[in-house]
Amino acid sequence: MTIEGVASDPGDSVVGEFDVVIIGGGPAGLSAGIYAKRAGLECIILEKGVPGGQVLTSPSIENYPGFPEISGMKLMEAMADHAKRYVEIKEGEEVLRVRGGDKYEILTNSGRYITRAIILTTGSMHRKLEVPGEEGMMGRGVSYCATCDGFFYKGREVIVIGGGNTALTDALYLYSIGCKVSIAHRRDSFRADKHLQDTVTKNGIHVFWETVVDEIVGREEVTGVKLRNLKNGTTQIKSVNGVFIAVGEVPTSQLAAELGLDMDPGGFVNIDKSFRTNVPFVYAAGDVTGGIRQIVAAVHGGAAAALSCFEDLMNPYYRR
Ligand code: NAP
Repeated sequence: MTIEGVASDPGDSVVGEFDVVIIGGGPAGLSAGIYAKRAGLECIILEKGVPGGQVLTSPSIENYPGFPEISGMKLMEAMADHAKRYVEIKEGEEVLRVRGGDKYEILTNSGRYITRAIILTTGSMHRKLEVPGEEGMMGRGVSYCATCDGFFYKGREVIVIGGGNTALTDALYLYSIGCKVSIAHRRDSFRADKHLQDTVTKNGIHVFWETVVDEIVGREEVTGVKLRNLKNGTTQIKSVNGVFIAVGEVPTSQLAAELGLDMDPGGFVNIDKSFRTNVPFVYAAGDVTGGIRQIVAAVHGGAAAALSCFEDLMNPYYRR
């Protein structure tokens, strides 16, 4: 079995054959790896970067049971170290193509994997504002990661865009490291947890309510944002050095599409209550499936997907 059009790629040699290959090394993938391997399945995790996923960029996690307050990086390091006790994690291993047959064939940047089953835990990516100046000034004042870039804005003026948990967590983090922070949100209320809202209020962080960004202003680097009040239509240029965009996530579902998985209109993979997809021996968990997008949910999904996979490989639920 070969993958059309890529058979002569450098990554053509078979690295190994597995019961299940997990694609993505965030909380869902790491949890799936632990459960699959402990169930006795031959398994590997392919991660295109380093294990941890989006959580790595979260400054502070306060709702993962057992850890009243921990940085995303520390939590994910602990989770990855735990997973590595059981399962190999191939870092820098980007999956390029996936193809079904008697078994699944996965082509990466460095090799070919043959597997009976796949657990897709490819997560999601930052949604863009898609306004002038955003793309051009990425890394020059535009950021999607407060923990990665916040340090450079200590003592300087920044604005966070969004009204969810990420936006408020980021705003509080930036405030805590000494940035002069404000928030712009398109509605008149936040959807973030009440606890975060209360902390933002308590710290006197200014909020531009019912306000959108029409443009990110600057030449070499960001000097301001053009804000528009949705209620009265007035615009203003607010001087800032940094714009931290936290307006949600879009699923990483190209491989899901390639595998023919059912998805909702937003591109999130549809799963049943056992984390099976519509395609036999393909499971999905974590942010790529949408839902509440919490670490606990991802960890649960990975475990459940691995157990369903084990069940199906031992006693097939699907009839091919
Ligand atoms: P989110 O909950 O989807 O919130 C996105 C925010 O951005 C919303 O306030 C939304 O406004 C706004 N928005 C979306 N598109 C926009 C646009 N084009 N222009 C301006 N504003 C826009 O995303 P998130 O905050 O990244 O959180 C993702 C998931 O991770 C959530 O389930 C969240 O609870 C979870 N999370 C949890 C924690 C935690 O518990 N510690 C931390 C971070 C994230 P509207 O409100 O008007 O839709």
